[in-house]
Amino acid sequence: MKSWKVLIAPSVCAMLAGLAAPALADVSIEDIVNDATTTNDVVTSGLGTQGQRYSPLKTINADNVAQLVPAWAMSLGGEKMRGQQAQALVKDGVLYVTGSYSRMWAVDVKTGRELWQYDHRLPEGILPCCDVVNRGAALINDKVIFGTLDAKLVALNQKTGKVVWTKEIDDYKGGYSYTAAPLIVPSKAHGPIVVTGVSGGEFGIVGRVEARKVDDGELVWSRPTIEGHVGTLNGKPSTMTGKQGETWPGDLWKTGGGATWLGGTYDPETNLIFVGAGNPAPWNSHMRPGDNKWSCSRIAIDPETGNIKWGYQTTPNDGWDYDGVNEVVSFDLNGTKAVATADRNGFFYVLGREDGKFISATPFVEQISWAKEIGKDGRPVFDPANRPGDPKKAADGKKGSSIFAVPSFLGGKNQQPMAYSPDTKLFYVPANEWGMDLHNEPVTYKKGAAYLGAGFTIKPIFEDHIGALKAVDPATGKIVWTYKNRAPLWGGVLTTGSNLVFFGTPEGELKALDATDGKQLWSFNTGSGIVAPPITWEQDGEQYVSVLSGWGGAVPLWGGEVAKTVANLNQGGMLWTFKLPKKLAEAK
Ligand code: CA
Ligand code: CA
Repeated sequence: MKSWKVLIAPSVCAMLAGLAAPALADVSIEDIVNDATTTNDVVTSGLGTQGQRYSPLKTINADNVAQLVPAWAMSLGGEKMRGQQAQALVKDGVLYVTGSYSRMWAVDVKTGRELWQYDHRLPEGILPCCDVVNRGAALINDKVIFGTLDAKLVALNQKTGKVVWTKEIDDYKGGYSYTAAPLIVPSKAHGPIVVTGVSGGEFGIVGRVEARKVDDGELVWSRPTIEGHVGTLNGKPSTMTGKQGETWPGDLWKTGGGATWLGGTYDPETNLIFVGAGNPAPWNSHMRPGDNKWSCSRIAIDPETGNIKWGYQTTPNDGWDYDGVNEVVSFDLNGTKAVATADRNGFFYVLGREDGKFISATPFVEQISWAKEIGKDGRPVFDPANRPGDPKKAADGKKGSSIFAVPSFLGGKNQQPMAYSPDTKLFYVPANEWGMDLHNEPVTYKKGAAYLGAGFTIKPIFEDHIGALKAVDPATGKIVWTYKNRAPLWGGVLTTGSNLVFFGTPEGELKALDATDGKQLWSFNTGSGIVAPPITWEQDGEQYVSVLSGWGGAVPLWGGEVAKTVANLNQGGMLWTFKLPKKLAEAK
């Protein structure tokens, strides 16, 4: 079955245009591991496997960023648009970007000319929870690999866009899909591996992380995130995750959630893969007394075996859908190897990178109500009055008592990635300040059906803003500055060696702020909402900035009263690329 299409082969395009096709060299594992410091390419999601989203480039700076203009824009076309959440990749003058409905493009970065397009043929009946998005691809050797809404992993040839291999991650009819960018990691025993997770936490799936060989997609290891499930290594059972029944009652661990839907990061210094696991299933926490490990957690995995080196649970016995999936970013904390993560639950955590030891947790949004604080032992001090009530205790046995919780289940921060600058030593967190009415209901598991046991309505908590880009000092937890935005922020952040912070808004503006004080230096209206992270790189002495524009994602689908306030935002699907006018770029 041919599920791909090539509109025009690159060589034909090049002949028609009288141009040489870009010469492509393989993307090596060294290119991947060194990505953060090489400014002429972006070969990983996160601008480096540690996920800092920091570029050392300084050509575009505070003095000239106001002159930034579009170099070109390219439409993602099609009758259906929806949310465009992908981070683009760039190598040897070719940009690779994924779009809604499991599509991918290769584009000439000088001209915006399309080299090829791949449209994955999606079956009827896919079950994406939160829009038909895709968050990007992975480059390795001569391949570009991405996940699809019908839970497949597809490897294409970089030059032609033709399928090299396809692997089924799992059965989409059971609620599985895959939307995160795959992660490429070096392995001594297996060569480069491609690491992925699974989406579908709202359907009672069991989360897991998998590593495959990049040449043929063959499974190397699998690591379930929920206690009691056994992993695999080289086709055989390996080790159990945790101890069966330790933090889960009865059989609920069998459909326990913990979806690994946002992918992971990799730290070469400790040789660890960091992934996050989503909410336990169902949402009704009264059905599953206990911590419910490793739902709502970050886990560190050995790339050789798939074994868990350490785990840290941000929300034990979660009752608010505070998925623990947000990215784990490695950084140097005054000489200590540390990681930071900004959780859905509103707290910003700093942990030891080698052992997951709790260092600190501080609020990065206001009015957090579900917990009073995070104790010195790293466990939340719950506010029992802010856990939705047990439906069994309700007079009718159907609807438990309702509470108003902050943050909302869409989180103090959702999928949109933060950035870290080693110059300012600040994290730039694309946060949202909102709350939700939430109650629990009885629920039973049924394959392929939503498994929540909850009803909810998201509401704003401030009149002037929901979105708030926050500069967080990881050493003190202090919010150094806040940039407020009316609509919820849903795109990621990029920071540069010239002290700039780039991010987009649902209102459609791509903005550049001063990284030190948050002052706006530049803004450009892209015509539709931005829910994707920008990138920057250098090509023939010029610095480029690219971002996808195209409103969608979870907010218009799940946002309750907030969704009404953004209902007038227009959909789109445009890849924008910016640079300085030539003479300005040369005048250094
Ligand atoms: Ca690079
Ligand atoms: Ca969830």
